[in-house]
Amino acid sequence: MSLFAVDGLSKSFGGVRAVREVGFGLDAGEMLALIGPNGAGKSTCFNVLTGQLAPDVGRVTFDGHAITGLSPQAIWRLGIGRTFQIAATFRSLTVRENVETALLSRAGGLRGFWRPAAGRVGAQAGALLARVGIAGLSARVCGTLAYGDLKRVELALALAGQPRLLLMDEPTAGMAPAERRALMALVASLARAEKIAVLFTEHDMEAVFSHADRVIVLDRGAKIAEGPPAAIRADARVRAVYLGKDAVEPRR
Ligand code: ADP
Ligand code: MG
Repeated sequence: MSLFAVDGLSKSFGGVRAVREVGFGLDAGEMLALIGPNGAGKSTCFNVLTGQLAPDVGRVTFDGHAITGLSPQAIWRLGIGRTFQIAATFRSLTVRENVETALLSRAGGLRGFWRPAAGRVGAQAGALLARVGIAGLSARVCGTLAYGDLKRVELALALAGQPRLLLMDEPTAGMAPAERRALMALVASLARAEKIAVLFTEHDMEAVFSHADRVIVLDRGAKIAEGPPAAIRADARVRAVYLGKDAVEPRR
């Protein structure tokens, strides 16, 4: 059985069927890309999976637990993390302070003896920053960072929650191509090394095809294809919803 299983998920907004009977499974350590043109329903899927939105119908299970209808906080506590937008990082705090805050919040439910000592949190923060490649920036105030570095801080904040599944909706939005590919390569190596399942959306098809183990294509809310990158790249139906001859590129 999959670590994460989505079955018959649908969500409408008035007359717009944003997500229609979508289902898939995801295993530990696997990178699964959710792609499709603008308006295909990717973000709506994410918002349902993180508990921000209730689905009309459908069932989502994580590690055997039904999570449909749980609050975002309850879903996060089960080990499903997500990357947040820039606003979520405290811009006036340093990189290290942000990560320490996230680590303490993870430990928030622990009391007394079980609470990690300050020194231990500091060491964990240092290790996390090294893992995402920004150990050298730990004393910098977040508000002064370059955009790509801020994205790495966001990744460190998500990892601070020790997720077993990471949901990333457009984690590289606004980044230059080389930077996005580097970030996705980092995420892929972390996923494999630490057996974290990752579901992500990404507009850069090169990043998708290089780093996803499997790709799901949505069009107007429905899943139209699912398979390994090479099969998706060659799929006539997928190519039809995108422009471009040599590479699958998003329709803008
Ligand atoms: P994607 O992330 O693939 O670009 P979205 O999930 O954001 O697609 O949107 C899917 C469809 O649902 C679009 O037609 C969009 O206009 C509509 N939609 C998304 N969120 C809302 C909302 N909160 N209220 C009404 N319609 C929405
Ligand atoms: Mg979106």
